Amino acid sequence: MNIILLGPPGAGKGTQAERLIDAHGMVQLSTGDMLRAAVKAGSEVGLKAKAVMEAGDLVSDEIVIGVVSERLDAPDVKAGVIFDGFPRTTAQAEALDALLVDKGMALDAVVEMQVPDELLIGRIEQRAKETGGTRADDNAETLKKRLVNYHRDTAPLVEYYDGTGKLRTVDGAQDIDDVTSAIAKALSVDA
Ligand code: AMP
Repeated sequence: MNIILLGPPGAGKGTQAERLIDAHGMVQLSTGDMLRAAVKAGSEVGLKAKAVMEAGDLVSDEIVIGVVSERLDAPDVKAGVIFDGFPRTTAQAEALDALLVDKGMALDAVVEMQVPDELLIGRIEQRAKETGGTRADDNAETLKKRLVNYHRDTAPLVEYYDGTGKLRTVDGAQDIDDVTSAIAKALSVDA
């Protein structure tokens, strides 16, 4: 099973991805994690992405698509992929469609986690406190920019995937366990 977790920053995509990994042995493909690793390693991609990420802006489609394409060549993706934080633009969604065809993979579902902006701001502030600033983009100012970017660039993907019949919407404002159950139900799998 290959799925996309779609939702704004702080929606809980990472948490739910971990649970899907534990329950179903899937592989998480988080472009945010991959880009942070590239920044840490000081690779060419990392050097290009660093300032953009710190500002809360989107890294270029070209870079992100390249990173995903390479990752999809690893054999572990056969266990099933959870795309977390990708695609974030229509161009990325179109590129993913092409990549999946290319690599003989199929998309089973897109789970949209809906969370109101007010709740997200509280969650991100909490995460910033807990992680002690390990994520340079977890602060109120960049979050606001990331939310603006989400509504402008990523929210249109809801319509994109609705047209494919693969979109499932869950209420991401519920307790974490209830979100996990709602996702399992949406995917017709055990939680
Ligand atoms: P995330 O961990 O998913 O919140 O991503 C952290 C940051 O990495 C984002 O604010 C962007 O700067 C960058 N990033 C992650 N995924 C993407 C993507 N699919 N497209 C563009 N930029 C991305």
